[in-house]
Amino acid sequence: SNGGRIALVTGANKGIGREVADRLAALGMTVLVGARDPRRGAEAAEALRAAGGDVHAVRLDVTDPDAVRAAADEITQRFGRLDVLVNNAGIPGALDRQAPSTADVAVVREVFETNVFGVIAVTTALLPLLRRSAAGRIVNVSSSLGSCGLMSTPGTHQAGLPPSVAYAPSKSAMNALTVQYAKELRDTAILVNAADPGPCATDFTAPLGYDVQRTAADGATVVVRLATLGADGPTGGYFNEAGALPW
Ligand code: NDP
Repeated sequence: SNGGRIALVTGANKGIGREVADRLAALGMTVLVGARDPRRGAEAAEALRAAGGDVHAVRLDVTDPDAVRAAADEITQRFGRLDVLVNNAGIPGALDRQAPSTADVAVVREVFETNVFGVIAVTTALLPLLRRSAAGRIVNVSSSLGSCGLMSTPGTHQAGLPPSVAYAPSKSAMNALTVQYAKELRDTAILVNAADPGPCATDFTAPLGYDVQRTAADGATVVVRLATLGADGPTGGYFNEAGALPW
């Protein structure tokens, strides 16, 4: 049963993260809405509480080491453990400044700061709390754009996208991190997996200007599935709704 379990979702004030928070709360979990902006976090938590969930806002900018430490301390004091961590917070970065021939290293750095270093900082800070869980689950919200296999196979959607040395490699790095954390945690009760939500209409995809039919709620499905795996579930894997993806 998911009742009584405690979940933290980073970047949960909107988009896919917010849908994941809503779904985990509906399953009976106590859900902590991580948000870098306290006002946006409080508003989202309030809305989800109004829908009946046990939802609380936690101030968390994943790129701010002090904020990460403070969030871990707050969760320790208020809840004493963590059962589910969803590393969802992510940014695309300025898309016109990440082509290999014209890349702005500052843009690459900014994207990696959130999508990669933020994930390491948050996961490492929260591992002591996840180790106290009888069934810890870590879900890294990745993307099929980070699949080296897909992006190097002619004819795939990923191969057809504009080349990027920031966003796509940041998700490839996140996939690699998923394998490394799973490796260290192999003999624990913690399962670590990467999820590709698939294209969803959010503030993230809106500037791309192409028609995205799937919603944030659709994207949340695979994330929630990996956050609620049974003890016999996979670890160190990379999945979308339909199954395993090539690395
Ligand atoms: P949104 O832009 O709608 O939401 C992103 C969330 O991340 C917001 O809550 C944002 O907070 C938060 N965030 C950004 N930077 C930080 C930070 N430094 N610290 C804490 N929170 C932060 O995007 P989506 O919901 O679409 O994306 C969520 C995840 O899904 C991302 O990791 C993305 O890469 C991934 N993804 C999305 C796809 C899509 O089609 N939408 C497809 C594949 C993967 P704020 O409101 O303050 O900006």
